[in-house]
Amino acid sequence: MHLKNKTALVTGSTSGIGLGIARAFAREGANVILNGFGDAAEIESLRAGIEHDFGVKARYDGADMSKPDAIEAMMKKAIAEFGGIDVLVNNAGIQHVAPVEEFPPAKWDAILAINLSAAFHTTRVVWPAMKARKFGRIINVASAHALVASPFKSAYVAVTHGVAGLTKTLALEGAEHGITANAICAGYVLTPLVEKQIPDTAKARGISNEQVIRDVLLAAQPTKQFVTVDQVAALAVYLASEAAASTTGTIIPVDGGWTAH
Ligand code: NAD
Repeated sequence: MHLKNKTALVTGSTSGIGLGIARAFAREGANVILNGFGDAAEIESLRAGIEHDFGVKARYDGADMSKPDAIEAMMKKAIAEFGGIDVLVNNAGIQHVAPVEEFPPAKWDAILAINLSAAFHTTRVVWPAMKARKFGRIINVASAHALVASPFKSAYVAVTHGVAGLTKTLALEGAEHGITANAICAGYVLTPLVEKQIPDTAKARGISNEQVIRDVLLAAQPTKQFVTVDQVAALAVYLASEAAASTTGTIIPVDGGWTAH
């Protein structure tokens, strides 16, 4: 139980990678605060399932990560209830695939707000509490696109590179306060976010959905396999642990060899 008596807040944890990380933390004994969108009854069942399966406290906050005021309120409420947040995972994210001249400006703004600015807003509120307790773990779920680009993903590639920069800066500012900051750069994981972009990529490239999976997504990954949620969550558990105290400012690929090209 590496995370017993710790509290972790995972943004965007009603689905996919975030949910996998929240459940992995709970398995290690952490209380968790879930966040994200979805059907209220389904979210309640996820929340109650974590408490039942792992015997920890699980809370849910539906704050919209594109809204700084809502983020601040969520963070303050969580800190008040648990006395602090030990592990913050900035994971909420959206994607949009389109050639740059057709890229809707409103989508650009939304991706910037949810995938990048939200990580600043969560961090700035939790930072004093982490400093006071001389312990903090900030884990930013970025992407292989923090290291390399792909066409038709201008906003996503720009913001994930931005997340890498924020991560390094936080690592330097937190180094003498027991706070680490790292970014996980996942390759393709078959979550709803990736499932949704398959038809858009097919349209942008004029190919079929099957060709997108084989020739675009998995072509990038030498393993020819999707990365799994559990593989990403296992790294997050390590980064959250005491053992990772000297691992900070890193931008770690979990991408089946994609960025080794
Ligand atoms: P997903 O669509 O399954 O999950 C996204 C989560 O973010 C959901 O819980 C959703 O409700 C939440 N969310 C979206 N907009 C929100 C908002 N405005 N406020 C609050 N919550 C919001 O996607 P996923 O694949 O699990 O993605 C999680 C993160 O991992 C994203 O940041 C994504 O960019 C990143 N990532 C995914 C992949 C992949 O291949 N799936 C690869 C690299 C990085």
